[in-house]
Amino acid sequence: MLIGVPKEIKNHEYRIGLTPAAVREYITHGHQVMVEQNGGAAIGFTNEDYEAAGATIVADPKEIFAKAEMIVKVKEPQPDECKQLREGQILYTYLHLAPDPVQTKLLAEAGVTAIAYETVTDNRGGLPLLAPMSEVAGRMSIQAGAHNLEKSRGGSGTLLGGVPGVEPGRVLIIGGGVVGTQAAKIAVGMGAEVTILDRSLPRLRELDDLFDGRVKTIFSTVDAIDTFSRQADLVIGAVLIPGAAAPKLLTREHLSNMRPGSVVVDVAIDQGGCFETSKATTHQDPTYVVNDVIHYCVANMPGGVARTSTIALNNATLPYGLALANKGLAAMKNDVNLRNGLNMHMGKITYKAVHDDLGEEL
Ligand code: NAD
Repeated sequence: MLIGVPKEIKNHEYRIGLTPAAVREYITHGHQVMVEQNGGAAIGFTNEDYEAAGATIVADPKEIFAKAEMIVKVKEPQPDECKQLREGQILYTYLHLAPDPVQTKLLAEAGVTAIAYETVTDNRGGLPLLAPMSEVAGRMSIQAGAHNLEKSRGGSGTLLGGVPGVEPGRVLIIGGGVVGTQAAKIAVGMGAEVTILDRSLPRLRELDDLFDGRVKTIFSTVDAIDTFSRQADLVIGAVLIPGAAAPKLLTREHLSNMRPGSVVVDVAIDQGGCFETSKATTHQDPTYVVNDVIHYCVANMPGGVARTSTIALNNATLPYGLALANKGLAAMKNDVNLRNGLNMHMGKITYKAVHDDLGEEL
């Protein structure tokens, strides 16, 4: 199959659909790959790297859209890109169609077969192509929090790990899923005192085993949030209620009881945020202050570490992408997990949640 990898054109998006290592895998399986010139240059993947892996470098993305049988991307196609897609072509990327009627309509008009990373499943009911980005955001949340606790950033001037003779900073993590667990790993590694709240007792048991006494696990209630947020230097918001907006767990009142110069990082901002005072920010201007508490609410955290994120994403997308390249649409016949990724086919919405939200609009 001829695979096409255009450069991402969404504002400040530096990731790319395939790494040179992933290109080599496709080539080894007998496929051809076209990569847009300088598509990975911003994150250190040069044209020469891609050529060495066996790709052809193409200057004009129009040629890629016109010729490729499968387009591999990171972000949803922008309107100009949607118009170049066509029936019989496979689009493999993050789509997030439900809140995006414009893109959905354009993809329907194009007739393309669109497979959304975010709805591909695994045998344990997880979302394997979302998990790597949650891992990145979770680890990064502590880095962002620690940085903003520094005096020069307006923080309280607290070092999370403390030093011998000085007590460490206190980190409260609300939600102990993928983001929360990775945040806890980094915070524990830095020497902070870490408390994780979750609504799921089975999950709290797993976390207790995993961290072997190095974190406090507490059942998540209003009372627990009230108690632990008062003591925290850094609060991480990491809850998810699948298919729903995030609940506002840390209220303005809780915030008013926190120490001046404390930091809150709302990773769940892409689902509306789980703090009452959260509003989405960008990497260009990541923080703002409410009640003397610094808020970091970047909706696209993995974009800030685009090189690591691209490699992590490729590790997860490669097996499914190779199956599509090897077998075409037949790859979905015997693989319910890949089939769950199918969102659009020949002008029709094929994913129930997207159809429920947008079916009427087409
Ligand atoms: P996950 O499903 O692995 O974990 C969510 C956890 O929240 C679960 O353990 C669940 O039991 C817990 N939870 C639900 N309600 C709760 C409550 N009231 N109190 C405490 N815990 C509660 O999800 P995840 O992959 O860790 O993602 C967490 C959030 O981070 C999601 O909103 C996701 O969209 C977001 N995210 C954001 C970025 C970004 O760049 N900002 C990147 C990746 C993920």
